[in-house]
Amino acid sequence: MQRGKLIVIVAPSGTGKSTLISKLMHEVKELEWSVSCTTRPIRRGEVNGVDYHFLGEEEFLERKDNNEFIEWAKVHSNYYGTLKKFVDQGLEEGKNLLFDLDVQGCDQMKKIYGDEANVIFIEPPSYEELCRRLKLRGTDSEEVIQERLSNAKSELSRKDDFDYLVTNDDIEKAVGALKKVVGEILRK
Ligand code: ADP
Ligand code: 5GP
Repeated sequence: MQRGKLIVIVAPSGTGKSTLISKLMHEVKELEWSVSCTTRPIRRGEVNGVDYHFLGEEEFLERKDNNEFIEWAKVHSNYYGTLKKFVDQGLEEGKNLLFDLDVQGCDQMKKIYGDEANVIFIEPPSYEELCRRLKLRGTDSEEVIQERLSNAKSELSRKDDFDYLVTNDDIEKAVGALKKVVGEILRK
């Protein structure tokens, strides 16, 4: 059986990554979503086991010490990690896996999987628009928004370091561009 493809999406918080990923998953049926573990509080509308596996910090750290994560990182003061078993099994079974990781996670995946990890960076049309979207989403406190905006600056400085770059200005155009890139990766 042909090994599955590994596709990682990275973008500063508020860019519209979750919105794009949900549209992409709906339209491209060959993709399998990697559900990460996190210690961040669940947001309105999120479902445990679907959006994330929401864990307490003690359980997360225990599972990290048990080597259950292929990569993990502390992002915006919370822990996030990708389940090793899901990735190794999925790729062997020929599944095309889609990940939503921060830049530290992307660097880790590149270190482990090299060229097999296809990383797509999604950038907002401007920093001002990123601020507007984070505020408009209305899911985070002012303090959390400020932390995410301050991290966005260093994340944006990495935008040219990965395999593909897509701008999320008009949502439908961005979905189209993302579908094209994913199609290219799946046919490789
Ligand atoms: P992320 O997952 O990158 O943190 P979200 O998908 O939650 O971001 O999007 C942040 C906010 O921006 C949401 O309110 C979403 O509806 C909005 N949004 C996403 N894409 C666009 C776009 N192209 N134009 C305008 N608003 C957008
Ligand atoms: P959010 O809290 O907005 O869902 O995600 C915050 C950040 O954590 C985003 O940049 C997202 O890509 C990143 N993230 C989500 N899951 C993982 C993961 O498993 N590993 C790493 N390294 N980052 C993750």
